[in-house]
Amino acid sequence: MNFKIDDELRKRLAGIRELGRTQIRPLGLEADRAGKPVDPDHPFYALLLKLGLGRTRWLGGELDAEQDATRSRVGSPPSGGERGHKAGPSLTGVLLSEELAYWDRGVAVSFPGPGLGEPPVLSMGTPEQKERFLARFREPDRPRWGSFAMTEPGAGSDVAAIRTSCKRDGDHWILDGDKSFAANASRADWIVVWATADTSLGRAGHRAFVVERDTPGLGDFKIEKKMGLKAYESTSFTLRHCRVPASHLLGGEATYSNQDGSRGAKRAGFKGALQSFNATRPMIGAMAVGIGRAALDEAAAFAREHDLGSDPRVRDRLERTRRKLRVARLLCWRAAWLADQQQPNIVEASMAKAHAPAAALDATLLGMELLGEVGARGDHLIEKLFRDVKAMDIVEGTGQIQHIVIARQLVGLPRE
Ligand SMILES: Cc1cc2nc3c(=O)[nH]c(=O)nc-3n(C[C@H](O)[C@H](O)[C@H](O)COP(=O)(O)OP(=O)(O)OC[C@H]3O[C@@H](n4cnc5c(N)ncnc54)[C@H](O)[C@@H]3O)c2cc1C
Repeated sequence: MNFKIDDELRKRLAGIRELGRTQIRPLGLEADRAGKPVDPDHPFYALLLKLGLGRTRWLGGELDAEQDATRSRVGSPPSGGERGHKAGPSLTGVLLSEELAYWDRGVAVSFPGPGLGEPPVLSMGTPEQKERFLARFREPDRPRWGSFAMTEPGAGSDVAAIRTSCKRDGDHWILDGDKSFAANASRADWIVVWATADTSLGRAGHRAFVVERDTPGLGDFKIEKKMGLKAYESTSFTLRHCRVPASHLLGGEATYSNQDGSRGAKRAGFKGALQSFNATRPMIGAMAVGIGRAALDEAAAFAREHDLGSDPRVRDRLERTRRKLRVARLLCWRAAWLADQQQPNIVEASMAKAHAPAAALDATLLGMELLGEVGARGDHLIEKLFRDVKAMDIVEGTGQIQHIVIARQLVGLPRE
């Protein structure tokens, strides 16, 4: 493994650190106190665009073929032209994710860009679909967002249980259903919506559509209440007889052919979701490490200021926490590095996602316990980190679900 960071990436990380200290952390605290997401018109987002952030990873045009070839070999995100001594795009993403989340994970998720909607468009979309949905994120004229909506009120971990239906009607599909907890959905240009053509087929019936913001029948956006991560919106919405052009079915009709429930059915929609998770789980793990590191810094600073370091029990807990976070970070790096090397990373992605949020939760718990009543007052960063961190275990498949994925691989069972 090679985790070498070149000067350019080092500079980017230093830039994030400065932005984090001066803008991201204060904005996150402000949103937390106000109890509402950062406004989409906030000048911070325009600043991010000026800094070259809020863009797609899609290279576009002729480079698209190279991205496609890479993905089809490994089912992982594209590696673009960044190989050899440079950190690849997945490792770069993991490093930047950790640093951003160190300052504020909620603000980091609120960043403009195609977000969680990007991996399925990249892994399943036709060249025309990538052009149509991602090109606008290459040099965005204003902050723009994409979104990803799998979860429903009755379907979280068990994605086979989704009930949002899709029915073909001429050159359109009609979508009907309810979605919940989709990040940035109400401000998004488009949302990748997962629906089922036939509930009796389970995951084989899944299809993914890109639903544009102004599509009639898409509406009832409501921002969910959350215990933490308040700087970005998690949104519920409905699809009521929502007519989506057939050309918005990711990958096109042929991708989903042979879906009769028989052996050998392609299950392209579900596979697309899994590929997205292999790309994003190491990043979620890295974000958890970032939150955990912030909590450890608060705990260690408090221990120094209050002369708690002379107590071996305190030193022991600080040391354990640091060790667990370092292990978590290495798991995330390895999962990302494998993706960049075009090697399967299912188990490593799940290990990173299972371990890192648990280690980060321990770090925030240590902070709460060391700070005692200072932490419990409710106006200290440590208390916010304690509320923010739990979601890291939940999103993109809970810890328990990752254990199932790892165990099934271990005994040679297919993933679901
Ligand atoms: C802050 C936040 C942001 C989110 N963002 C998005 C988003 O952008 N897009 C999106 O589509 N969704 C999003 N989600 C939804 C998220 O993916 C789901 O919450 C998650 O999949 C868990 O589903 P659930 O909450 O329905 O819990 P459930 O699936 O009901 O699980 C409840 C508990 O049971 C456990 N459990 C379930 N099945 C098993 C099993 N077979 N074995 C052992 N234990 C099991 C789970 O681990 C969990 O502890 C978000 C959620 C949160 C909290």
